Amino acid sequence: MEVSDLYAKFPLLCSSGPSKSPQAFHGFIKIGDVDHEVYLKTPHFPALKGMTLSTDTQLSCIVNSCQLQLLEVEEKCSTILDYLLKFQQICSSRSKEEQLVEDLSMLQNSFFKCLLSHLEDIGWSRVTQVSSDFSAISLETRDKKGRSHTLRVKVGAGYPQEEPIVETDLPVDLKFSWNSVAGLSCIISAWEEQLTDLQQFWDVLDELDGSVLVLDPPNPARRHTTRRILLSNHVSVQMTVSVAHPNSLPQCHLLGASRLTAPLNTLLTDKYEEWDPERSIVSNLEAILGVNVVKSRAAGTGGEAEEWSAECAVCYCLHLEDSLPDLTCDHCSQAFHVPCLYEWLCGLTNSRQSMNVIFGECPYCTQLISCKVPA
Ligand SMILES: [Zn+2]
Ligand SMILES: [Zn+2]
Repeated sequence: MEVSDLYAKFPLLCSSGPSKSPQAFHGFIKIGDVDHEVYLKTPHFPALKGMTLSTDTQLSCIVNSCQLQLLEVEEKCSTILDYLLKFQQICSSRSKEEQLVEDLSMLQNSFFKCLLSHLEDIGWSRVTQVSSDFSAISLETRDKKGRSHTLRVKVGAGYPQEEPIVETDLPVDLKFSWNSVAGLSCIISAWEEQLTDLQQFWDVLDELDGSVLVLDPPNPARRHTTRRILLSNHVSVQMTVSVAHPNSLPQCHLLGASRLTAPLNTLLTDKYEEWDPERSIVSNLEAILGVNVVKSRAAGTGGEAEEWSAECAVCYCLHLEDSLPDLTCDHCSQAFHVPCLYEWLCGLTNSRQSMNVIFGECPYCTQLISCKVPA
């Protein structure tokens, strides 16, 4: 190995001492994109033996962090050139790694700084839950009537440029226009505006939930627009309340034995114009259908509420997984879950099955009843 080989690879080094066997070099070595100052003592040039290397402070930090690797290389290399090439390679990749880590932490710092300041803007009192990496945040607010509402925000690493994903408990989609400077506050203000608009809707549903027997959903949430309520013994009505006009006639679907529901359906069709938005849903139903809607036990009407039955007459439960007793006996009007009735009929010796329908005696009145074989 000649001195010229070394200069070919490291043109910014200068030698001192005899030109054939220089005792020292001074100059710069490129690590990554930066030229770092170095000073080499090379008592046995071109052999590596006895070489010492001093570097500028910045490069010393890099050298210190990969000392083990450099020691290994030092043992393997015999010439100064070999060693310097390996040295350059190891330090370059190390400095690249450090740059990446630094960039990442800068990025994270700006993400947290921004998110924290946006949370501060909307007020920490609204924050009920934050995941450890701040990617999922739950917010709570109360409306004028004291009802609590929850909003979940999923924040990506690109926040605030990247729009967060929002989940609400509203019966409508929350519309907002994302603004990375305002951050979460644009969601909150759109949300609270929406909550104000929905007050009447929830007033109507709260009144309904508090006064009558709601069969379904078992635990109504703020987003649910549908209620199935027990109208009278063996007849229930599934109503979808309009979000925009909650006091108007809801979409109604009567459920129960057809001999019981048919006359009520006729009344609904004939007298729907008598629906009075000034009255509650329950008063309207009672006036139009001429029934006394079964009141909830909580409403404290006493006595009456005990007499209704909506449960399945086989398993005595209201809910079987998610389904309600949807099949009614045409004779005694008892309601059953299809799987319960099917199992019951299968256990009877005088039941018969044809195609996918089973016929047998009603467990309640022993008259003929049939049901489809559950899927
Ligand atoms: Zn059942
Ligand atoms: Zn029956």
